[in-house]
Amino acid sequence: MMRTRRRLSRPLNKRKAILLRELMEAYAKQKDSYLVELAKTANWYIWQSSWKVKRAFGRKFSHHTLPVHIENECLFDAIYTMISWLEIAKKRSSWKSQVFKHTQSEEVRIKYFKLFKQYGKLAKVLSGEHRDAWLFHLVVNSLKRPPRINQRRITVLDGQSYRVFVEGGKQYVSVTTLHHRQRVVIPLLGNTEIRGNIWLVDNYGRFEIHTASKVKVSRTKHLIKDIALDAGTTEVFTDQYNQRHGKDFGRLLAKVEEVYTEKGRRRSKIRTTAEKIAGTIEDEKDRSAYLKKVRRNNLGKKKQIQFRIRSQAAMATVINHALNQVLDQRPENVIMEDLSQMSGRAKNKKLSRRVTLWMRGTLHKRADFKITVGGSRLQAVASAYTSQECSHCGFTAKKNRKGDRFRCKLCGTVDTADGNAAKVILKRFYDPEIKLWMSKFQIKRILDRRNAEITGAVPDAGCEVNELVQSFATVNGQTPT
Ligand SMILES: [Zn+2]
Repeated sequence: MMRTRRRLSRPLNKRKAILLRELMEAYAKQKDSYLVELAKTANWYIWQSSWKVKRAFGRKFSHHTLPVHIENECLFDAIYTMISWLEIAKKRSSWKSQVFKHTQSEEVRIKYFKLFKQYGKLAKVLSGEHRDAWLFHLVVNSLKRPPRINQRRITVLDGQSYRVFVEGGKQYVSVTTLHHRQRVVIPLLGNTEIRGNIWLVDNYGRFEIHTASKVKVSRTKHLIKDIALDAGTTEVFTDQYNQRHGKDFGRLLAKVEEVYTEKGRRRSKIRTTAEKIAGTIEDEKDRSAYLKKVRRNNLGKKKQIQFRIRSQAAMATVINHALNQVLDQRPENVIMEDLSQMSGRAKNKKLSRRVTLWMRGTLHKRADFKITVGGSRLQAVASAYTSQECSHCGFTAKKNRKGDRFRCKLCGTVDTADGNAAKVILKRFYDPEIKLWMSKFQIKRILDRRNAEITGAVPDAGCEVNELVQSFATVNGQTPT
């Protein structure tokens, strides 16, 4: 388990800043060229090839601007970026569950799972050399545009490209530049060990050094077996004992959202006014010069990005705090709904899509990290209908939930909506039928059948219609949505 540590630099003089930016610029250009080449399907096999093959590839597309060590790191960095691009697509489109829907044969499934790990072979499916229409569409539809470098902000340096020393109680890092024998000494705030690869980051004008260090995974005794968490928007989590963790979350989200809409309103106002004025300028050159000036001076992105970084940091703090509260109880399993499916659960309708996305991103990163470090295991369950199912009798109905309250229409159990959801999440983890990879549709069928069993009624007619739809769709080789 690795943890990133951020080290801030003291202010640098102009000459040093120029030299560092020059290095970062060359690094970004080189990495971008590597990315373009690595994205070609004929080169996907390089991602998993031996060091020697990678090096030959790196030399072939080298700009010959970077010192050799840094060029190597640049290539590895680019490969890592490509692999993450594919792996994220895999997760986002849940390839594994797609295989489960596609074929019943265990043998074929295993064949696909193996193929998913071999990038060179996957590339052959994409290029048409290996024909598999189903897989081709799965891969093509899940991939976004290949990554490119548009911000020259991060440069990876290996151990031979920098030196650390302490003078007068202050810590310094001296970094190689593009010029022979010319190094830049960066004074740092604080003093902690720096070793291995480091990341030189230009954080909107301020330089930072990021280091990665190993964190020990503790093997402490567990005090309780399971904690199930419902991720909410008023607080970070509610557990099955109706305890709420991270109570400031709602207030923070509301504040972020308010600033966002206010800023957006102001920006669009500036834009319309500028367009009106531009309409009165007759000379075309003058007009475009005016619009350009407005874009640069009044519609710049810098402040917006800084605000985003700050609010994300504030959210991370609240989420961390909530996770610490949970982990203090030393549970063996921490059970949450599958975060990749967690969307549209916002109770606050004003909450923008963007904020929901951030929250998911931060939570995912944080939860994964913290929970492994604490010696607990993070377990995911399918999220479909967790808010509508009764944790006591299992009866599922939309009407069971009304805002923050839960009241079962069948057995009358009363609970908070989040507390009930947390209990259902815990039940899901031990459910013999409902599995993580199942579609919402499959889960609905199971829950409909259970409803019928509990109430003794005939299953909903919609269920049979759905069955017909599904068998029809399977014939056509498609999955119903
Ligand atoms: Zn009930």
